[in-house]
Order: sequence, then C-alpha cells, then structure tokens
Amino acid sequence: MNNSDETNSSSNWIAEVSHELRLPIANIKLLIETLLDGAMDDNEACKRMLKRAYQEVDRLNILVSNLLSHEKVAEERSELNRKWILLKEPTQYALDSVSQLAKSKNIDIVVDIKNGCSIYANPEQLDQILLNLLENAVKFTDKGGRIVIKSEDAPGKFSVVDTGIGIAPEEIPKIFQRFYRINPEQHKGSTGLGLSIVKHILDLHEATIQITSEQNKGSTFSLQFPNPN
Ligand code: ADP
Repeated sequence: MNNSDETNSSSNWIAEVSHELRLPIANIKLLIETLLDGAMDDNEACKRMLKRAYQEVDRLNILVSNLLSHEKVAEERSELNRKWILLKEPTQYALDSVSQLAKSKNIDIVVDIKNGCSIYANPEQLDQILLNLLENAVKFTDKGGRIVIKSEDAPGKFSVVDTGIGIAPEEIPKIFQRFYRINPEQHKGSTGLGLSIVKHILDLHEATIQITSEQNKGSTFSLQFPNPN
C-alpha cells in the first residue's frame, strides 16, 4: 500500500464511521426536540421516547467499543505475539459474556472441545474472535435454539454452529464488509463491525474462515488457523 492509498483508505474509514455515528445522534436529537416541543407533557409518549433514546445511546456505546476493537487490532499488526492457547480458555471468556443473553432466550450452548486442543494465536485477538462469533450466534438464534462450539479433527480448526435464522448464499460474501448488516431494522443492537474485525484478525494470522448456512436452519462458521513449522 503506498501513502496515497493509505490516506484514501483512512479517509474512507472516517467517512464510513461518521455516517454510522450520524444516524443514532440524529435520532436522539429528534427525540429530544419532540420532547421539548410538548411531548413531555404526555406521560406515556415521554416514557416511550426516553426508551427509544436509551436504545440509541446503547447502540452508540456498542458502536464505539467495536470501533476501538477495530483500531486495537490495526495497531497490533506489527507485533502479533502468538502463543499456544487452549481453545477452552477463549471459549470460556466468550461464554461468560453471552451467558445472560443466552439464558434470557433459553438458548443451550454446548462446548465440545477435545482436551488439549490448542490454537497458535494472539490470546486477546482469539478472545475477540470467539466473542464476536458467539455473540452473533446468540443474537441471530431464536428462543430455544442451540449453539455448539467444537474442535475439529484437523489441527488448528474449530467451528461455531448455531440453529439460528441462517444466511442466504448471496449474503455470505458481504457480511465481512464493515458496517454490513443483512436486516438492520430487525437487529437494532447490531453495528455490522463484528465479522469485519474477525476477518481482519484472521488475515493477520493467515487463518481462514468458511461459512455454511441454510436459512431458518442455522449456520456453521469454521475457522482454520495455521500451525507454526
Ligand atoms: P453485527 O452482528 O454487529 O450486525 P457482524 O459484522 O458481526 O455485525 O455481522 C454482520 C451481519 O451478518 C449481521 O448483521 C447478520 O445479518 C449476519 N450474521 C452474522 N452472524 C450471523 C449468524 N450466526 N446467523 C445469521 N446471520 C448472521
């Protein structure tokens, strides 16, 4: 990448980020204006609008923390600091973060990882991958569904399997793009950054990801990390 490419890609990045931040900010402003214009006197309307504003702030919060994760991964490009990590460790970290949401949706999460299964990776970045994949699996799986995190026979390979809403074949290549969401209206808490962070980390590790999915049946995300020589 030469200097002018870098400048272009960072100004694209700033334009994309600004665009994403603008919508929730505009919504919050509109809600406050409506309240000040008299909606505050109607108790029910006031509660409804404050709840909407709260959701928008929540979305901003998720957006900012995802942006920070993105930036952190970009900064660590030069020094990857890989180690052997027992796959059960980042899995537990991700499970702790999603367990409440999974419980509230009555989703069963099964860990089927062979003892001793290890991945050669940057520990924080592997945590981030497991977290993003598991968060998606829980978000896009309906109540009563099931998620399995399993090690595969090939060394360095593992999968996250869900019984969720699935992904249409033509959408699969797009979901790794920054800010891309298949159904933004239905999933307000989504930012479209999770999988682009995953892809970025996988590229740094020269690792690959494969998705197989069937709509209304579920998806499997299979990751293959290279082993050191
Ligand atoms: P986010 O989850 O914040 O929207 P991602 O980049 O992680 O962002 O995912 C992009 C889109 O890919 C999601 O909005 C969703 O439409 C789709 N997606 C990701 N994971 C799954 C999954 N396990 N099942 C169904 N759709 C998914």
